[in-house]
Amino acid sequence: MLRLSCAAVTTKRAPLASDDASLRERLLAWFDQRKRQLPWRDTNDVYRIWISEVMLQQTRVETVLPYYQRFVERFPTVQALAAASSDEVLSNWSGLGYYRRARNLQLAAQEVVKSHAGTFPNTVKGLEALPGIGEYTARAVASIGYGVHVAVVDGNVARVVSRWKALEEPIDKASTKKTLASLATLLCDPRRPGDSNQAMMELGATVCTPSSPKCDQCPLRTECAANATERMTDFPKVESATKVRAQPMAALVVTKADQVLLMRRPNTGLFAGLWEPPMGEGELPELASRLKAAGIALKAIEPHERTIKHVLSHRVLTVTVATATAVTRVEKPVAPYEAARWFDAETMQEVGISRLAQLVLAQCSALKREQKPKARRPSSKAK
Ligand code: SF4
Repeated sequence: MLRLSCAAVTTKRAPLASDDASLRERLLAWFDQRKRQLPWRDTNDVYRIWISEVMLQQTRVETVLPYYQRFVERFPTVQALAAASSDEVLSNWSGLGYYRRARNLQLAAQEVVKSHAGTFPNTVKGLEALPGIGEYTARAVASIGYGVHVAVVDGNVARVVSRWKALEEPIDKASTKKTLASLATLLCDPRRPGDSNQAMMELGATVCTPSSPKCDQCPLRTECAANATERMTDFPKVESATKVRAQPMAALVVTKADQVLLMRRPNTGLFAGLWEPPMGEGELPELASRLKAAGIALKAIEPHERTIKHVLSHRVLTVTVATATAVTRVEKPVAPYEAARWFDAETMQEVGISRLAQLVLAQCSALKREQKPKARRPSSKAK
């Protein structure tokens, strides 16, 4: 029997007892009526369901939509993704962040083509054996794509379940994760597991939201312990806040005529495999010296007044940016980069560029635009 430590319901009114089957039916009826029309909900194609699930992890639906459309247009099948160049895959992922996912996506596609004749395994275990597919994605793909009766627990589902049962245990504790999975299974209809899982995720995203849940629209309301005690925002409980470290960085945007020098990161670590203006931890002079030592002579180094803040899961990067002109068109990477190349606006579209690099380049372009009119203004002497 499932053992839970739920809040004692002593105030106002107790949630009504209801059997799990009727709760499941109510949840599915709500989903059938209220679900958002999303392109990955119109398909049985496991490949597309998998792409959407990977993109949706830690990213909002509204953000994912244009990326998903573009990605499946360019790579309509698992074979097309497997055969593409990694630069092209990263370029179509650029802006979504979490670039390791894009790399794993292609490795998994290659594995499906090579070892499974282009068809995704139809079990959680089989899916989990593919590169980059963890328990969450495997369960989501198995239930939505193949109708396997397994419940999925993401952040949205954890919030709904913890409120429904007023769970006092922190949801990030390993033991609570098992409890959450067991409870989510109670709400997962064996006849429509994929829809049940999507219903829970949808409920968390649109109704049972973090700060202002719309309980009057919720199909679980009459059974919800948090609602009964009006303690909705007391849940979920969280054990530990992640410590975020501040990290100063410098970036040098080196140009020559209309081209900019970008370097490619190694295939592991931060922004793996992506191209960017040379940057690194520490101050600008150190970075400029490293380029000079590699034979990249610079002139007219101009630091920008504005820094760029970029938040990662465990770090906040504060980047000081400078522009510089290269004396010669050298293509030599400095450590830790593995390649260097000159790009123009068009060729830059063909490779993967991190969101941070895009911000750095955008700041340079904006500054250039601001400076142009000043340069054209006639001097007071000329007047
Ligand atoms: S009743 Fe309110 S708190 Fe409870 S699950 Fe529904 S939206 Fe969330």
